[in-house]
Amino acid sequence: MFYFENFYGKKILKSSLLQDKDCFFTTREFVLTPSNRTDLADECEKNRSFLKEKLHSNYITTAKQVHGDNIEIIESNKTFYDNTDAMISNIPNTLLLMNFADCVPIILYDKESKSGAIAHAGWRGTAAKIAYKTVQKMQKELNIKPDSIIALIGPSIGKCCFETGEEVFEQLIEDKQNKELYEEKNEKYFIDLKKINYNQLKEAGVEKIDTCTYCTCCMSDIFFSYRKEKGITARHSAVIKI
Ligand SMILES: [Zn+2]
Repeated sequence: MFYFENFYGKKILKSSLLQDKDCFFTTREFVLTPSNRTDLADECEKNRSFLKEKLHSNYITTAKQVHGDNIEIIESNKTFYDNTDAMISNIPNTLLLMNFADCVPIILYDKESKSGAIAHAGWRGTAAKIAYKTVQKMQKELNIKPDSIIALIGPSIGKCCFETGEEVFEQLIEDKQNKELYEEKNEKYFIDLKKINYNQLKEAGVEKIDTCTYCTCCMSDIFFSYRKEKGITARHSAVIKI
């Protein structure tokens, strides 16, 4: 179950599955990445310092997200990754951060090995199975058992608002009989990206998954929405401290 919490005066979204862990999704009230909202750059810089201070971290590890499926395992001294849409780490105190405005944010954590990950799954990343591949990489390279991973599928554009044409539909929906993944209205498709990612995580062997029901486009008063704000928008973030 997801719930809003007060992080030293700033609104964040947490899941009861990882209640005691330093991991959450930020909101408009706690913006960390301005993107093309350059008017928010100063606020973001202040908020990043605030985040580091409150989580006792000296640095933030982040990436240039490109809607691909490159997945990096974090090295201790590197804090920025180019061309990367998922980051995995088992290095204590690493603070991972990725950015979103409608795309599906996925946080993974394994309590046993104390390893975590964040994946960025827009429709392209979802079609490239980044959620599935991230779990596989955790398993193959860090010996993490998928069934001990807890997954949080955070706020993203919902089926209510993610209207697409034929081309995107064809890349996302392999089984057209599976009507729980989409709705068809007037030759347009409304696709449930969160459900597709949920299925990928299940297929990879993850059992404990919490899916946030919030649609960022419907709730653009709380989250940033690329679609609702026609591309002129900042980003909310997924954050986890390993
Ligand atoms: Zn919606």
